[in-house]
Amino acid sequence: MADELDLNLIENAEDFLLEAVKYAKGSSPRDWKYAALHLWSALELLLKALLENEHWSLLFEDVDKASQKKLREGDFQTVRFDTALDRIRGIVGVELEQKDLRYLKQLRDLRNRATHFAAKLKVEQAKSLVARGISVFLTLEQRYLHEEPDKGLEYEINQDLQEFQKYVDERLRTLKPELERSDRPHPWFRTCLSCNQETLVSRDDTAVCLFCGEEVEFTELADHSEGPGGPCPECEDCTLAFVLLNNDEGRFVCPKCGFETEHNFNSEYGRYGEEY
Ligand SMILES: [Zn+2]
Ligand SMILES: [Zn+2]
Repeated sequence: MADELDLNLIENAEDFLLEAVKYAKGSSPRDWKYAALHLWSALELLLKALLENEHWSLLFEDVDKASQKKLREGDFQTVRFDTALDRIRGIVGVELEQKDLRYLKQLRDLRNRATHFAAKLKVEQAKSLVARGISVFLTLEQRYLHEEPDKGLEYEINQDLQEFQKYVDERLRTLKPELERSDRPHPWFRTCLSCNQETLVSRDDTAVCLFCGEEVEFTELADHSEGPGGPCPECEDCTLAFVLLNNDEGRFVCPKCGFETEHNFNSEYGRYGEEY
């Protein structure tokens, strides 16, 4: 029975991935909204497949309430995204690069925003997000589920991935000179919350993305870290942000002026958003 469910989750995940790719090739903000939403579903299902592969009870948000009967009947609160992320790292032992972890969290935030601000999505954001999403998906699937995607599907997705990647690379090449001569936020806060490219530059009180044009307040960048940590002692203009260096430790940094605490802090400590 377990094998059967496993297969369904993965097949479902791949199906959503294909839909995401299809919509990302479309030409309207509505298409891109669906690309982002389907991509989100694909990755969420893949995380569940990783958990199910370890043990079916991990699909329950509350493992203590897990039972085969509830699983069969679908009568339970499924694992939430953040719990799933913690579990695939802590229990399954998936090593996610900070970059990919950040990407997944950004996609989660964008999913929440996409539902409300559909029209704001731009082609740059859609292509960039889908390109990164496809590679995160394929890496996780191949490395941890030892599952080779269906050949036809792999071929189709790789063709599209290359096309999106080419688009992204060409734009990044064009932006390089301007990026090099601009003031930039702290190196860990150069990734745009909307398109996930490392193309943020500093303009007074806001960070502006050269790739997609999105503007974001420095304080909002701090809010999107593991947890905000009180005002910056150096510039007093921005909130400090807690950034994970690995699964256990992190550091408080200022996205705006680059201030960094000298010592590392336990990740649990940082997540509560206390002042350092
Ligand atoms: Zn951007
Ligand atoms: Zn500062």
